[in-house]
Amino acid sequence: MQAFAEKILSSGSDFKRRAVDVLQVNMGRYCNLACIHCHVESGPTRKEMMSRENVEAVLGFFARTEIPTLDITGGAPELHPDFDYLVESARSLGRHVMDRCNLTVIFDPGKEYLPGFFKEHSVELVCSLPCYSQENVDKQRGKGTFDLSIRALQRFNKIGYGQPDSKLILNLVYNPVGPHLPPPQEKLEEDYKKILHEQFGIVFNRLFCFTNMPITRYATHLKLRDEYDRYVQLLEAHFNPATIDQVMCRSLISVGWEGWLYDCDFNQMLDLPMTDSTGNRLNIASLALDQAANRPITVGNHCYACTAGAGSSCGGALVS
Ligand code: SF4
Ligand code: SF4
Repeated sequence: MQAFAEKILSSGSDFKRRAVDVLQVNMGRYCNLACIHCHVESGPTRKEMMSRENVEAVLGFFARTEIPTLDITGGAPELHPDFDYLVESARSLGRHVMDRCNLTVIFDPGKEYLPGFFKEHSVELVCSLPCYSQENVDKQRGKGTFDLSIRALQRFNKIGYGQPDSKLILNLVYNPVGPHLPPPQEKLEEDYKKILHEQFGIVFNRLFCFTNMPITRYATHLKLRDEYDRYVQLLEAHFNPATIDQVMCRSLISVGWEGWLYDCDFNQMLDLPMTDSTGNRLNIASLALDQAANRPITVGNHCYACTAGAGSSCGGALVS
């Protein structure tokens, strides 16, 4: 395998971050699900949670910059005790808020208020639904997940999310169940819209196709099936130079539950931190925007997952 860093060098790209448009905050590892593709290795037994002090540090950083978007993820971030506070505070600073929601979380005890809360604060929802078939979703995310996800989507639709002419945005996320690249996003979006509407009356805005990242839990899953080497070779073989200008690390920074900064959520899970020019780790509590913008990005062979085929980012495919 050719190292990804060499591939970038030979492409002539400087592979630096440009302006920072999105701050992605990982509030912790706790989740009500334990999906096999989860690069965060989240689950009901995980205890890691962002402290209130770090939540305040995130808000402090927002207040001293003009970054337009807060993208909240986890785990299931809605199960963090300061989730509502973070959303309300970011909205009061005039920022757009996105929540990466696993759908089923709204049926957790005490969380029934979430749909109304999201609506009240115009939170954009990015919701995982890795397939429109019950069998595939339950295989990847656990038995009963599909039915709960459908009920959650119906509830969101009922209050206006995803409806034509509504400003309440409801996007879905597909990722392959097996070790292959996602199919073309536009065509799959058409299929999702047709099938979900015909079978369940569900509407939504956009479908984002993600490529599974062969790290952490998913890497273990692949290795147990003797599929890891074939999958990473597939990713490298489909490297597409047209994607490298648009991968998410070019315009996003990621902060972990402990306050450390990373070029993306994947680097966070691999413990590849952002550092200053003297090699010290950067923390959200003292971060200045010029330490993140126009700075080189740390890459590794896992970056082939973002740059294979049509590419993959937190907003789905990068090129058609
Ligand atoms: S819902 Fe998301 S965070 Fe939770 S286990 Fe599944 S992929 Fe991981
Ligand atoms: S994994 Fe993807 S987003 Fe992260 S540094 Fe590599 S190319 Fe960028």
